Amino acid sequence: MIKSLGNSVYQLTYNVPEMKAVPPVNGFLILADMPILIDGGTSDDRTFQALKDDLTTLKLKPSDIGQVLLTHNHADHIGMPSRLASENKKLKVFVHEEEWVQVTASDRERERLRDVLCEIIVSWGVDPEIVAMMREKIIQALRFGGGIGRDQILPYPKKDLLKVGGLDFQAIHCPGHTEGLVCLWWPAAQSLFSNDHVLETISPNPTLYLNGRNGKICGLGDYLNSLSNVEKLPAKLVMPGHGAPFTNLTGSIEKIRTNAKDRQKAILQNLTATDGEPLSIIELTQKIWGEMDPLHIFLGAREVHGFLEMLEEDGLVKYETVGHTKKYSRLKKAENLDIQFEQFQS
Ligand SMILES: [Zn+2]
Repeated sequence: MIKSLGNSVYQLTYNVPEMKAVPPVNGFLILADMPILIDGGTSDDRTFQALKDDLTTLKLKPSDIGQVLLTHNHADHIGMPSRLASENKKLKVFVHEEEWVQVTASDRERERLRDVLCEIIVSWGVDPEIVAMMREKIIQALRFGGGIGRDQILPYPKKDLLKVGGLDFQAIHCPGHTEGLVCLWWPAAQSLFSNDHVLETISPNPTLYLNGRNGKICGLGDYLNSLSNVEKLPAKLVMPGHGAPFTNLTGSIEKIRTNAKDRQKAILQNLTATDGEPLSIIELTQKIWGEMDPLHIFLGAREVHGFLEMLEEDGLVKYETVGHTKKYSRLKKAENLDIQFEQFQS
């Protein structure tokens, strides 16, 4: 589906087949000196046909796209850019340097990342035999883009403005949802392409850093800190990766922070209620959300892992390793649940 947003910007919205939990994804097309595509859906034939049909309404075809700006490496964002890049070897794709490993991952590299991920899931308290059975599914989930050659990737400028198609953008690195996620600020239009960093009604799930990042496994702490990187922008319009464009950037960020505070409190309360009995990440996840399907347990556990890493850093919880499982308990310092949340502030 294509929708004009003014300023020569078109929102392209497509369903995300095979990823049941993911709402339709937005790409954005800007008709500048050359057509610029920001993200753009998965790589399957149906989505590609939908993109072709939408471009036809503007008298364009896929090979007319002159530049792709990729915000992060998730399959619902990178799929279409990968397909366009594999069909047009001259097409270059801007990608943050911290995403290059995933974007260009060989099958062997994906297997290595899959093994790291399996180890993390086992540490949450999932039976290693069940994890072994999930190995094939997990490698499917680590498909990333594929199809973008190393020589087709361009790094986003670190400080300078990105000049493309006669327009200026600022690529703002906001790690957390993925390690190299970039929000694109377009000063002339006072518009922010926020992809999955700031969504209006959803708190996005933090990534697991399969290659590690500053000693952390989960991106949640970075994610909450990165909200400040875009908070002060005088944005009149926010164009997110999922859902309709919106105007209240600071209000949406506040909501995400409030949800995070509530969640962190719930984790501490659940650890308090056990009377010193340590809990695994899966046990904590089920206490917070109750029974869920495996995908939602996975997503919930990822978030719980992130909160526990932050609480551990603040000296409020500790873990011991029992067999393969990390078991968390509260430290005395966490008695007062009105803990500080400086890390959420700008
Ligand atoms: Zn994403």
